[in-house]
Amino acid sequence: MSYVLGLKCRECGREYPKDVLFVCEYCFGSLEVNYDYKAIKKNLTKETLLGRPKNMWRYKELLPIDKDPAVGLDSGYTPLIKANNLARVLGVRELYLKDDSVNHPTLSFKDRVVSVAISKAREFGFDTVACASTGNLANSVSAQAASCGLKAYIFIPADLETGKVVASQIYNPNLIGIEGNYDEVNRLCSEIASRYRWAFVNINIRPFYAEGSKSMGYEIAEQLDWKLPKHIVVPSAGGSLITKLWKSFKELKELGFLEKADTKVYCAQGQGCAPIVTAIKEKSEVIRPVKPKTIAKSLAIGNPADGYYAVDTVRKSGGFAEEASDEEIVEAIKLLAKTEGIFTETAGGVTLAAAKKLIEQGIIPKDESIVICITGNGLKTLEVVTKSLPRLVKIKPNLASFEEHIKNGAHQKISENKVIEYYI
Ligand SMILES: *Cc1c(COP(=O)(O)O)cnc(C)c1O
Repeated sequence: MSYVLGLKCRECGREYPKDVLFVCEYCFGSLEVNYDYKAIKKNLTKETLLGRPKNMWRYKELLPIDKDPAVGLDSGYTPLIKANNLARVLGVRELYLKDDSVNHPTLSFKDRVVSVAISKAREFGFDTVACASTGNLANSVSAQAASCGLKAYIFIPADLETGKVVASQIYNPNLIGIEGNYDEVNRLCSEIASRYRWAFVNINIRPFYAEGSKSMGYEIAEQLDWKLPKHIVVPSAGGSLITKLWKSFKELKELGFLEKADTKVYCAQGQGCAPIVTAIKEKSEVIRPVKPKTIAKSLAIGNPADGYYAVDTVRKSGGFAEEASDEEIVEAIKLLAKTEGIFTETAGGVTLAAAKKLIEQGIIPKDESIVICITGNGLKTLEVVTKSLPRLVKIKPNLASFEEHIKNGAHQKISENKVIEYYI
């Protein structure tokens, strides 16, 4: 049973059937899934949710697939962690982390969108899926295509982190590194998508793919007992997640799950690739494309497809935006690990660093509830932190060697970033 009426142009409102379509033929606006909310309201209540398994499909009425999902049965319902230690460091009263760094199956937020996209691709009868990716999408499409026996063509910038490359290649897709940045990869993929009958998850079935992001918002609301935070800080690459979180809050309000949906939404990007943040700060409607130069490669999209809508979302919500330098990203990754025991990738570092700056500037008040979205796992971007960590302490396998090490206060030196190599 599906509540999808069809697709609808975000600009002119023209309606289209539920099909492999993504741009309006008349105004070139992007298409979005259109639901029958009246029917959903009759069938989806807080009570119906109670008996359902804890994964993203508990909100299936609000997701655009007609049959049971073909993949990603365990995606979503990641922890919402009350981060008291980090709150103390930042000087705020009520802080939560939405931790998609442990999402299933590939440890990032992208498992949500890919679970929907590949399930939909199967419904459309495709035998091959594809994507243009900054890394996490590549991992998730590779894994989930493998799990349901579809062929996969994965296009990535050739200079991605080793962890992201290996964590795609292991699933044996057709993995192709392009000598260029993401925007060049994406341009090539648009050409390929028009020639081959493949389901490009973030191109020709993007309207369906993007809806998967909403599950993160539903979960946050439910995990806070149907009360939204006052502020939410969200990392942006193409700008889709941030707009869909906002949409999820508005939907829950419309369905009567929430009394109000007045959360202020904040966009976080890396300093060397912050076209959305720049537009928000400059109060501009226009996204000026940039050439990415940041260690936050998962967010390095210089010409974001949903940039305009991301700016619009932030402005309507009354939120703002902030960027993080490479050093600030690394510091924030370490801060999160030290205070909360969570190891995030660069995107998480960007988001925490941006949140910290917004709090320090008084833009996010210290006495109101805040959610920070942690969207990826640190084991995939080891190279950005290894240089700033101490070398491994090595001792001989005997007690005397250990005690000599302790006696010299070596364990303290570690935290001062000194190199320790101690032998007796
Ligand atoms: C893709 C991605 C995002 C956000 O992507 P949008 O394109 O803005 O939806 C955030 N964090 C991580 C780790 C990602 O891989």
